[in-house]
Amino acid sequence: MAHINENYQKLQAGYLFPEIGRRVRAFAEANPSAEVIRLGIGDVTLPLVPAVTAALHAAVDDQGARAYGYGPEGGYDFLVDAILEGDYAARGVSLDASEVFVSDGSKQDSGNIQEIFGTDCRVLVTDPSYPVYVDTNVMAGRTGDGDDSGMYAGIHYLPATADNGFAPDPPDEAVDLAYLCSPNNPTGAVMTKEGLARWVDWAREHHAVLLFDAAYDAFIQDPALPRSIYEIEGAKECAIEMRSFSKRAGFTGVRCAYTVVPQALQGTTAAGEEVSLNALWSRRQSTKFNEVPYLVQRAAAAVFSEEGAAQTAEQVAYYMENARRIREGLQAAHFTVYAGEHAPYIWLRTPEGVSSWDFFDQLLERTHVVGTPGSGFGPSGEGFFRISAFNSHDNVDEAIERIRKAFA
Ligand SMILES: *Cc1c(COP(=O)(O)O)cnc(C)c1O
Repeated sequence: MAHINENYQKLQAGYLFPEIGRRVRAFAEANPSAEVIRLGIGDVTLPLVPAVTAALHAAVDDQGARAYGYGPEGGYDFLVDAILEGDYAARGVSLDASEVFVSDGSKQDSGNIQEIFGTDCRVLVTDPSYPVYVDTNVMAGRTGDGDDSGMYAGIHYLPATADNGFAPDPPDEAVDLAYLCSPNNPTGAVMTKEGLARWVDWAREHHAVLLFDAAYDAFIQDPALPRSIYEIEGAKECAIEMRSFSKRAGFTGVRCAYTVVPQALQGTTAAGEEVSLNALWSRRQSTKFNEVPYLVQRAAAAVFSEEGAAQTAEQVAYYMENARRIREGLQAAHFTVYAGEHAPYIWLRTPEGVSSWDFFDQLLERTHVVGTPGSGFGPSGEGFFRISAFNSHDNVDEAIERIRKAFA
């Protein structure tokens, strides 16, 4: 008998996006003439920039001229060096090449990272959060069953609310692993240096590890806001950071990201011995992962070239212009909206007494616009709704116009 991993039985009815897809398909079948505008899933809509496609073409020719087999563990020097320089040295952070692990995605990394920690670790998420954090800990057996609101026993949910600016401070009690995401998916909130420093101090005091997801760092508009957790004093002793080329450079279908595990970061054995988390992650990756294709790493390195940086910044600016139009349009339609200033997401309060999923259905029925119910990201997301800025200016304008007509 092949017994299954019964932790999977605890997972709630399905990942959020399949359920959205199911409802949209059902609507489209019943209303074949409706022009549906998707401001739901967080996927990019602009093509790769020219600097990246040029690098890809050149890399294809390279690889046609000589063998590039398995790449070096952790990534090619040309990409790791570009990351160290462009993402860290440029902001005053010095890291060693051995601390950077190039990967095929932050979804994978943020899901896999929990493997190097004990199953008895107490896990904290800010609520609502990117579903991967909770679901992978459910799969690993760190939780009990889920309840009707989607809350799992054993996970510490820290509510991100309008009162705390959707960027809660650390709790009074100790946990072992805490997932933070800034700029945040889904709330669009961004953490300040002071706010992040409170988490770093707390983690060091309690010997907790922070898992910092910075997938949207490129969308931060204010240079004073931290893009990396390592801009905070002491973070190398308590934090792992994950970054991705997906949103900043349109790589969702190309696949490249990286995770930083500082050499200074230690975990402890049951006997109280300190063990390098960098060594554990390296061991995990070399066993289960055979590196990102040469072609893709060349494409990612091109993001740091002068043209690549300028062209991807232009794409980010295009999406942020959408965010501005959505934010202002929804405000004009008398919705209460949050964020969208340093992230490609607008977080809005659903009308009084309307649940997140009911608002999803109303929006689809009345405007043919697809968004994402806040409750799909955790219980504190109930009564909220996420609108994504990943679309064309024309579609955004049309969507906002429809919403204004239907709801104002
Ligand atoms: C999109 C996203 C990622 C990036 O995932 P990739 O696998 O690199 O495409 C990671 N974290 C969050 C919160 C995201 O929204």
